[in-house]
Order: sequence, then C-alpha cells, then structure tokens
Amino acid sequence: ENKILEVKNLKKYFPVKAGIFRKTVAHVKAVDDVSFDIYEGETLGLVGESGCGKSTTGSTILRLLEATSGEVSFKGEDILSLNRNKLRTIRKEMQMIFQDPYASLNPRMTVADIVGEPLKIHDLYNKKSDRDEKVKELLESVGLTAEQMNRYPHEFSGGQRQRIGVARALAVDPKLIIADEPVSALDVSVQAQVINILQDLQKEFGLTYLFIAHDLSVVKHISNRVAVMYLGKIVEITNKSELYDNPLHPYTQALLSAIPEPNPERKKERTILEGDVPSPVNPPSGCSFHPRCPAAMDICSKVEPEFKDYGNGHFASCLLLD
Ligand code: SF4
Ligand code: MG
Repeated sequence: ENKILEVKNLKKYFPVKAGIFRKTVAHVKAVDDVSFDIYEGETLGLVGESGCGKSTTGSTILRLLEATSGEVSFKGEDILSLNRNKLRTIRKEMQMIFQDPYASLNPRMTVADIVGEPLKIHDLYNKKSDRDEKVKELLESVGLTAEQMNRYPHEFSGGQRQRIGVARALAVDPKLIIADEPVSALDVSVQAQVINILQDLQKEFGLTYLFIAHDLSVVKHISNRVAVMYLGKIVEITNKSELYDNPLHPYTQALLSAIPEPNPERKKERTILEGDVPSPVNPPSGCSFHPRCPAAMDICSKVEPEFKDYGNGHFASCLLLD
C-alpha cells in the first residue's frame, strides 16, 4: 500500500488578540499535534464534534490556511515548504469539497462557469468549446445533464448543488479529495445519494478521500479507516471494522452509542456526554476529555495519555488502556 499523504505533528494555532494594541494574549489550539497517513485509493473518515479542528486540519493540509508547525507530504513532496508556483501545480492533485453547497457556489455564475473555473485557473482546455465538452462530461459523471450547464445554482436542489461542487472538484483530475462535511447540510434522504456518487467516482477515477464528518454514522459506509478527533487531537484511529466493533477510546464509544441502532437485539447502553466541548484556548489538563469522560479516574486530570498502537495499527490515547 502506498501512502499518498503523510501528516506529521501538524499544529495550527490561531492567536487570540486583545486590548488596544491587539496583543496576542492566548492561542486557540485548533489542531494540536496531529499525525496520520492516507493510503492511495482509500477513504479515511475524520470524525468529531464541531469545533474539534477537523476542517482546520483539512484546510491546513491544502494550505488554504498556513500551518503553525508540522509536516505534510503529498506523494513524498513536502507541501508546507513549497513556493507558490510549485504549490499551484500540486494543488491540481488535491481538491476540496465544501460543506455548504449553498454558500460555496457563486450565485452569479452558470454551472458551466463554476465547473469550468478550475480548468481556467490551471490553464487546461483553453478553447471554450473544449472546456464546455469537458464540463458536460463532468456533469454527467455526477448524475447531472449537459443541458443543465447554462443554469444558475439557485435553480438546483441542495443535493444537486453538492453534485456541482463535486464536478468542480473533479475537473482538474485530482488524486486526493478532502471532503469537508459534504453531506451535513443536506436532507438525510439525499445524503446517501451523494455518498454513493462519491463512492462510484472513487472507483472510476481511483480517488483517495479524506472524508470529514461530525458523526460516525455518515462515514460508516464510505470509510476504510476512521480517525476520531477531540479538541484538536486525534484520540483514536483504526480500520473501520475495528473502530465500530471494538472502539477503545471512551469518546469514540460515546459517539458510537449516539448512533441509532435499527436492530433491537443489538440495543446498547447509551452514553450521554455531559457538558459542552471545552475551549481550545485553554484545554483541560491531563487528558483533555476528562471533564466529560464517563470513565475518568483521578489520574486523568494530571497525566496526558500517550497515543499508542494497541495492536494492528489500532491507535488510541487513553490511560485506561494501560
Ligand atoms: Fe477518559 Fe481518562 Fe481515558 Fe481520558 S484518559 S479518555 S479521561 S479514562
Ligand atoms: Mg467544520
């Protein structure tokens, strides 16, 4: 298996400024020492509650945001140190699909212009007729029709708009797609359709996905492996069946227990997480999950658990496991 992306010790801290001199008084530790790999052709699900740093992780990998520190290599190339020109070339291979198909499509542009825009940016299909041909192909590959290319975003449903977003991301033949909650803004009935399209496209074009979501049920079908994030850190990562059948971290267990279980014979105890996610400006000491953890022990507020392999690449960070 080839690693297409390697993320090592990635940090993204946002300064918090205050006072008339706008002095930096603290930092929001949005991404705090995150490491993971993505293998070619797989889907890695990245899951956690809102504000845990998953979108920031995605944006920092693509350098839509500049990292505070760490390493990101894409096919062996060190992304974070590339100059603008080199970055532009490599950007073609890494595209993003955004959460909100309403906000991410320019309402004044036709579908043809929206989907064709990345082609222009990257100097591909310079002749308008060639570009239109390519746009038609792309629309068809996401289940829309060529006749729809001269319409405007508001003429489409949420699910169709997200398909337009997918077509745009595919235009430049990317290898890696970071999908940031691509179905969260859609009706549940439409979510599965969009996920199925993403899966079909993955097979057809050999795509690799980082699929970001806020709950574990959304990524269950599409992921090969799943990483769970809490307060800027990955707390567990393993292959899908291990994660769903044998979750090690109490946070993962709580997220899983929140998924409705259709089979009454498999009814499980529900763990309700108390309280809100603490502020990433001043994360709790020790294990940052301790104020909400149903299994917390005295030691948990004092000692920070190590992120360790508990067998066959099943990594987790929890003091209970030692
Ligand atoms: Fe819970 Fe302690 Fe494990 Fe943290 S280290 S997840 S607080 S048991
Ligand atoms: Mg987000």
